[in-house]
Amino acid sequence: MDLSLTPQEAAFADEARAWLAEHVEPVPCFEDEESALEWARRWQAELAEGGWVGLDWPVAYGGRGATAVEVAIFNIEYARSGAPQPVNRVGINLAGPTLLAHGTAAQCERFLPAILSARDLWCQLFSEPGAGSDLTGLSTRAVAVAGGWRVTGQKVWTSYARFARFGLCLVRSGPASTGARSLSLLVVDMQAPGVEIRPLVQMTGEAEFNEVFLDGVFVPEDNLIGAEGEGWRVASTTLAHERGANFPVKEEVVHEGLLARLVREAEGNGSLDDVSIADTIVDSYISLLVLRAHNLRTLTKLARGAQPGPESSWVKLAWSTMTQTMAESAMAVLGSGSPMWGHWQRQWIWSKAATIAGGTSEIQRNVIGERILGLPREPGPAGGAGRSPALGDSPGVGRSPVELGIRR
Ligand SMILES: Cc1cc2nc3c(=O)[nH]c(=O)nc-3n(C[C@H](O)[C@H](O)[C@H](O)COP(=O)(O)OP(=O)(O)OC[C@H]3O[C@@H](n4cnc5c(N)ncnc54)[C@H](O)[C@@H]3O)c2cc1C
Repeated sequence: MDLSLTPQEAAFADEARAWLAEHVEPVPCFEDEESALEWARRWQAELAEGGWVGLDWPVAYGGRGATAVEVAIFNIEYARSGAPQPVNRVGINLAGPTLLAHGTAAQCERFLPAILSARDLWCQLFSEPGAGSDLTGLSTRAVAVAGGWRVTGQKVWTSYARFARFGLCLVRSGPASTGARSLSLLVVDMQAPGVEIRPLVQMTGEAEFNEVFLDGVFVPEDNLIGAEGEGWRVASTTLAHERGANFPVKEEVVHEGLLARLVREAEGNGSLDDVSIADTIVDSYISLLVLRAHNLRTLTKLARGAQPGPESSWVKLAWSTMTQTMAESAMAVLGSGSPMWGHWQRQWIWSKAATIAGGTSEIQRNVIGERILGLPREPGPAGGAGRSPALGDSPGVGRSPVELGIRR
């Protein structure tokens, strides 16, 4: 593994660093959610203006056709700059790549530039009360009508639904008995009549995700991505990008900073002298190194032009283990006399979601067991399809229900 940058990559890193140094400013304090959202949209628009969003997208749709290594370099520099995550995460990381892979030229022209500039925010309408790890059991129905479909059903855990203009919605457009073969992927206008959004307040006190009720919502036919009945294949692209290569790289850099802060705090309050606490910090460091090793392997693979495969389940596990280990360590450093709320307290509470979001740890372990270690497959439901296929897999009847867990 050669970790040195080519002269072109070094020049690219310099350009990114210089742009970020000139443009990144501390995030102001906001009085309300609307002003925070407005600021976040403006920041992403500024990034897009500079050519720093959707870096590997085609130039024709506002990208700059960057290589996988350049994308990773930018993400590292971005995380180091301390800038906040772009607000249109679902649009950039999930909807964009899905449209690029399966959308028509007209759909790409219509949706992609507005994703980059954050004019249109997106959400992902996949999970339902009765379908999470095994998405192919979903029951939201799309009934064909003149010029499109009427969609009825309920989605849940839909992050950012309240702010989104569009939702990538996985629906059943044929008989349930045909499993994954009757799924289709539609773009739902979140402002259309029949869409009702109810926020769900989390342990952190924030309402990041929502319940979304769809009551006969009309979806025009040109909002179908891919062919009718091909939804599982199309959604596989979305799911594969959900735990894509970029997120763990950013997280690695962010947590390097957090670990340094934790060590300073432990030195400051004397808890570093407690061997059991010092041990938890060492555990955090080791789990960070494990994530780094996984990231480097993924990057090497991408740089060689290959697509990530089932080993990205290992990356997901390494990330969720690392973030939870560090948050636990921070609690030990703070000790029982610490205030009830603060940076680390929020981090600790949020870290609980890490082993669920993007596919649960059990699902990742099943994938590692079955697809990497070659252990026997879990028996699937009769006629059911895999829950989340690996990149390059084609969906098919009879696959395990836990091929790949890659959900937010
Ligand atoms: C912060 C956060 C944000 C989210 N945002 C979105 C979003 O924007 N859009 C969206 O569509 N979804 C979203 N989700 C939902 C997420 O994808 C699901 O929660 C996740 O896929 C698990 O599904 P479930 O909650 O239905 O649990 P279930 O699938 O019901 O699983 C329950 C338990 O059973 C275990 N289990 C299930 N099947 C197996 C098996 N075969 N073998 C072993 N164990 C198994 C699971 O590991 C879990 O512990 C979000 C979740 C979180 C936490």
